[in-house]
This record gives sequence, structure tokens and C-alpha cells, in this order.
Amino acid sequence: MTDTAPVLEIRGLHKSYGDLEVIKGVDIAAHRGDVVSLIGSSGSGKSTLLRCCNLLEDSQQGDILFKGEPISWNGQGLARRPSDSKQVLRIRTNLSMVFQQFNLWAHMTILQNVMEAPVTVLGRDRAEAEVEARRYLDKVGIGDKCDAFPAQLSGGQQQRAAIARALCMEPQALLFDEPTSALDPELEQEVVKVIKDLAAEGRTMLIVTHDMKLAADVSDTVVFLHQGLVEEKGSPDEVFGNTQSERLRGFLAATR
Ligand code: ADP
Ligand code: MG
Repeated sequence: MTDTAPVLEIRGLHKSYGDLEVIKGVDIAAHRGDVVSLIGSSGSGKSTLLRCCNLLEDSQQGDILFKGEPISWNGQGLARRPSDSKQVLRIRTNLSMVFQQFNLWAHMTILQNVMEAPVTVLGRDRAEAEVEARRYLDKVGIGDKCDAFPAQLSGGQQQRAAIARALCMEPQALLFDEPTSALDPELEQEVVKVIKDLAAEGRTMLIVTHDMKLAADVSDTVVFLHQGLVEEKGSPDEVFGNTQSERLRGFLAATR
């Protein structure tokens, strides 16, 4: 483990579901403070890539490195199933994921949702965890919703609670999988604002998004994935302003 190693690095990664190879040799690196956006058509492998980083999926070849340490399950890294492994919990704590469908626990209040993992996974003192949870809920603008249940919140508020929950783990990087695509356009913007604030704070983030404006505004690097391969990668200016690949040109035209 070194300080100069990227927080998260994907090297030559291959991933198949049975006979279907969906990631076919992908390289991506996010250094500390980098925001990397992943764009691409539905089915191009974006979620699979994020899920591999969070160890929700195994992979067959290549490496995923957290601060230089191999973590992928291809026989060279952890090489272990997730359920029984402290290592996997440690990686999930450090690479905290925010899902498209929020994945809040319906039977818990918003405060309980945000406090749960710091207490049960990190072993934090309950009172301290509550202070932290309230601080992060304030930060995402829903400090007044602590005692509400998820179903009583709008989608945008639920997603902001999910972001507070991820932040409470004090992760080294945040992984977002289409965080705004389940939201109505007017609610999308409140989540976009939170993500922009996090980017401005220098958080390391890997963001799968269909929102090209968000990708253009917050990213250091934009990666266009096509059928499991990086088809084009560069700064937002390069990728959006000086597009090289015909496929990316077609994709961008279709998203306008
Ligand atoms: P994206 O997030 O870019 O839409 P996904 O990573 O979800 O793409 O899916 C990539 C490909 O892998 C698709 O062809 C999809 O059908 C397939 N796939 C995704 N998850 C599974 C799974 N659990 N089992 C089998 N095939 C899957
Ligand atoms: Mg997806």
C-alpha cells in the first residue's frame, strides 16, 4: 500500500456471467480527489464494473486495487466469498456504494438507516454515531427528516439519505450507480447538487451516470464504455468537445 497509488485502480479486468463476457479488459484509475464518470449505453457493463469494485461480483481476470492492494476475487486478491470476510467489509466501508434504487431499510427511520452500519460494522459508540449521522443528514439538506421512514420521503430525499449513509462510513471513495435515474427531473437536481458539493470537497468518486451535464461538470475523467470495453476516455473537454469515436458520437447524439 502506498500513498501515491490510486485510491481505486482497475487493471485489465475481465468479468463474465456464465458464458457471457460483459467486461473484456478494462483499465480505469481514480487517484485521491479524482472524479471519474462512467457513461455508456444500457448493457455496456457499467453497473457490473462498479459491483466488481465493491466486491458484489467476482471477476475472472485482471485486478482491482484499493490503494495498491489487490482486492478482486480472481485467485490473486481476496479469493474469498463475501459473507464471511472482514476484508470484504473493510473494502465496502472504504469504497461505499450508492445505488439507483437507494436501498434504504424500509422499517428503519432515516436516522437509524444512517447510523446502522457505523454502529454494527465499524463498532462506533451509538451516541457518537448519532451525532455524525445528524451532521451528514444536515449536510445533504434533510436534517429535519431524521425521524421519518423512507416511504415518507420523496425519491430525492431518499437518495440524499442514502448518500449520508455512505458518507457516515467515512469512505476513501464513493461509487455511484446512476444515482439520479430513478428520480423525476426536478428531484434529480437536488441530488446533483449534493454530488457537485462532494466533488468540490475533493472526494474521490466513480460515478455511473446518464446525466451528461453532470459528467461534464464534475469529472476529471470521463470514460465511455461500449460492450465491455473502454471505447474512449479523457477530460470532459476531450470527450464531449473533441469526440474521437463514432460510437461515442452516436451515443451522445442519442442522449440529447
Ligand atoms: P449497464 O449497467 O451498463 O446497463 P450491466 O453491467 O447491468 O450494464 O450489464 C452488462 C451485461 O451483463 C448485460 O448484458 C446484462 O444483461 C448482463 N448482466 C448483468 N447482470 C447479470 C447477472 N447477474 N447475470 C447475468 N447477466 C447479467
Ligand atoms: Mg446499470
